[in-house]
Amino acid sequence: MLQTTHRPDSPVSIIGAGIAGAWQALLFAQAGHPVTLHERSDAAMTDATSHWAGGMLAPWCEAEVAEPVISRLGQRSLDIWRRELPDTPFNGSLVVAHPRERSDFERFARMTEGHRRLDATALAALEPSLEGRFRDALFFPGEGHVEPRRVLPKLHARIKAAGGTIKFGSDVAAKDLARLDPDGIVIDCRGLGARDAQPGLRGVKGEMILIETGEVQLARPARLIHPRWPLYVIPREDNLFMLGATSIEAEDSGVSVRSALELLGAAYAVHPAFGEARIVEFGSGLRPAFSDNLPRIGIRDNTIAVNGLYRHGFLIAPALAELTLQYVQRGQIDNEVMQCA
Ligand SMILES: Cc1cc2nc3c(=O)[nH]c(=O)nc-3n(C[C@H](O)[C@H](O)[C@H](O)COP(=O)(O)OP(=O)(O)OC[C@H]3O[C@@H](n4cnc5c(N)ncnc54)[C@H](O)[C@@H]3O)c2cc1C
Repeated sequence: MLQTTHRPDSPVSIIGAGIAGAWQALLFAQAGHPVTLHERSDAAMTDATSHWAGGMLAPWCEAEVAEPVISRLGQRSLDIWRRELPDTPFNGSLVVAHPRERSDFERFARMTEGHRRLDATALAALEPSLEGRFRDALFFPGEGHVEPRRVLPKLHARIKAAGGTIKFGSDVAAKDLARLDPDGIVIDCRGLGARDAQPGLRGVKGEMILIETGEVQLARPARLIHPRWPLYVIPREDNLFMLGATSIEAEDSGVSVRSALELLGAAYAVHPAFGEARIVEFGSGLRPAFSDNLPRIGIRDNTIAVNGLYRHGFLIAPALAELTLQYVQRGQIDNEVMQCA
């Protein structure tokens, strides 16, 4: 097991600058550890699953399908997002449905907490673009969202400001780093790239589309109840909207015609003006997941592996980093997510 009497000046090498590794690097650098973050791709991070994510911070909505541990880690993470990046938008999120999905909408309401019901007038007051579109909606006021492609560089800049070093184009193996510096700590956040050490990992494909229009304004993500996937429209800067996301047990890349039709159809159902929007990008990412779809912090000798963030990386990465730090500083074990070899 990792020696837990590490001093704040023990060096920490983190592998993978996606959302998991970025939060680890930030919290360890702020705690005074000399931190080096290794990332094999360049600063654009297009190889990372994090590049393709929606960036919703939605612990209450996710509780419809996720285990309670996700809500717990997610709610703690919201506090950390607020503390570290106070400009993170916390405008809440909306869940809407068309009449034929009424029973699924009611089920969603029963399965989740932290929402209030809006009638059509209240919905129009909150999101004027949705006036007359839906009879009612669920509003989750405590939820937030980030733009992954803007927030990752922001986190990387914060890591450097806290004294950390980031090495892009640095493709390293956890076991080599651990051997190189037995007194240091290695935190392996390679996502799917860690399959050599964690053969139980699989990729769950998520497809997304980016569209642009000035005809619709939204201040918060809107989820549309759908029989197969939780489809959503997330507003981004510069009149962009991200449409996401499918969830497919496959590891190929690209977007199928069927998925594209469903994603574009969902946007059109939220507002017909999306029909005139310009398609900017089709893309997909592979969510790193274990068989139970739950995150894991695995501890063996001086290496800590943080992985399996599945569809909740942005939601839970800050809390996972805090737990890792608490383990290194005080030997504190979180039995729900930590496994010691
Ligand atoms: C379409 C889609 C929508 C999503 N929406 C949301 C959402 O709304 N909210 C949410 O919370 N989550 C969402 N997710 C899930 C989220 O994206 C993932 O949980 C998260 O990105 C996983 O982060 P990670 O840091 O573990 O992995 P990654 O982001 O893949 O980062 C791993 C990094 O390690 C690097 N690496 C690998 N091997 C090496 C090596 N040998 N040396 C150096 N570097 C290496 C890789 O290049 C990569 O940059 C979504 C995912 C998808 C696909």
